[in-house]
Amino acid sequence: MTIRLTNTKTRRKEVFEPINRDRVQIYVCGPTVYDRAHIGNARPVVVFDTLFRLMRHVYGADSVVYARNFTDVDDKINARAAETGRPIRDITDETIRWYHEDMDALGALRPTHEPRATEYIGAMITMIEGLIESGHAYAAAGHVLFRVRSYQDYGALSGRSVDDMIAGARVEVAPYKEDPMDFVLWKPSDEGVPGWDSPWGYGRPGWHIECSAMSYELLGESFDIHGGGLDLQFPHHENEIAQSCCAHPHGSFARVWMHNEMLQVEGKKMSKSLGNFFTVRDLLEQGYPGEVIRMVYLGTHYGKPMDWTHEKAVQAEGTLRKIALFLNEDMLTKPMVDWRYARPTDDVVEALSNDLNTSLALTYIHKYLKERNELALVGSLTLLGLNPEIIREKFLSFSFGIADNGFAKKTSLSSWGSSEVNLQRIEELGIRLDTLRLSAMETKDFSKVDAMKTALLAAGVEVRMSKAGVELMPGPGFDASKLEALD
Ligand code: AMP
Ligand code: ZN
Repeated sequence: MTIRLTNTKTRRKEVFEPINRDRVQIYVCGPTVYDRAHIGNARPVVVFDTLFRLMRHVYGADSVVYARNFTDVDDKINARAAETGRPIRDITDETIRWYHEDMDALGALRPTHEPRATEYIGAMITMIEGLIESGHAYAAAGHVLFRVRSYQDYGALSGRSVDDMIAGARVEVAPYKEDPMDFVLWKPSDEGVPGWDSPWGYGRPGWHIECSAMSYELLGESFDIHGGGLDLQFPHHENEIAQSCCAHPHGSFARVWMHNEMLQVEGKKMSKSLGNFFTVRDLLEQGYPGEVIRMVYLGTHYGKPMDWTHEKAVQAEGTLRKIALFLNEDMLTKPMVDWRYARPTDDVVEALSNDLNTSLALTYIHKYLKERNELALVGSLTLLGLNPEIIREKFLSFSFGIADNGFAKKTSLSSWGSSEVNLQRIEELGIRLDTLRLSAMETKDFSKVDAMKTALLAAGVEVRMSKAGVELMPGPGFDASKLEALD
């Protein structure tokens, strides 16, 4: 399988060839941890999780290393601590916990490494010292600055010259800077602000150096892919390249650069003042399941701007519901298909291999659903990070479950006014159906199962089957008197 990726550095779609097939290495810039992640922040998470999953599929799960950092030293965090009077570590720990909860809900795998910047201060200091020694940085007034003019290729990633960038950027002019473009590697900390002892006094790192230091420590001086949102291309990624290439001139730093385009909401840039600013948690709490959010994201190619709309979410939910119904029916009417044998199809792997064409991959999902091809559907959904087991459970309206030991697992009575007696009755029927199904799987004769299912449906009971057993749920048209036919 040939993987092709659009490399921001060359502005071309290139055949991807890893430096080492046994250790494919990816680094992605992660969040600054002072608040809940918003739905724009979740876009790179889903995009690069999909890339991670594709790479694991193609090269083997143990042959891919994915590092994504937590920026836990930053002036926004300091400001939050000052506002709230809370210790910084409390804020960053809590935010990291939230981040994990929210991104788990989107089906994102945890990266192999999730380094916190504050754990790599020593590595940053070493790197800065090296840059000063080689003339690429200088210390001035408690600060250390990177000498941008000392790096010939500065601006190559975004395709702009230093002079163009000066004209377009809000560069901070400061008396201690040799050149307005020079950026901060280290700065002094006042009392009450986090800081570390360094050769340049008590202080803290600038933002960019952390990714250069952490990627070097975890992945080495040359690695395969560096990712992040397009907003990071300049200055953050230009600065990372300048630092890393000057500190390790024999390495190539990242071979391929990938940038996801920005997310908007209902056609507008997300902003608090427009009232269209949402965190991932907001959406989850408003009732959009994580699988719906993920499916909406996968519908747009990562290189294109993406619009979050309620309408798209409704469509995705409809698709997931159809998938759930199909998976459930298929289990009921056919001998159980063992999902362990499910594999993503070549078509889906090929779509993802072509610069992560996730929307084409979703087209195949619709096709397998139409063809009622359970193994292709299950295998391909799994590769896309959409867990079929969860989809089946979550998207079949209410759940009145009978677990494998025959006892009610989950009961939701609010939607239907049924009595305890009927509940018990349905439980018994569930156990009976499960027994019938188990023997039918041996004899391959499903006629009794079908007859019972028909009678249950006539009584207004929804029927679902899973590996764990049978679930029966009285629907809106439930008529208890018709259960008598089943005696
Ligand atoms: P931050 O915490 O602001 O550094 O952002 C974390 C990640 O989210 C970075 O990779 C950003 O590029 C990305 N990001 C921020 N806003 C958006 C957005 N509206 N759409 C897509 N990605 C974004
Ligand atoms: Zn970074």
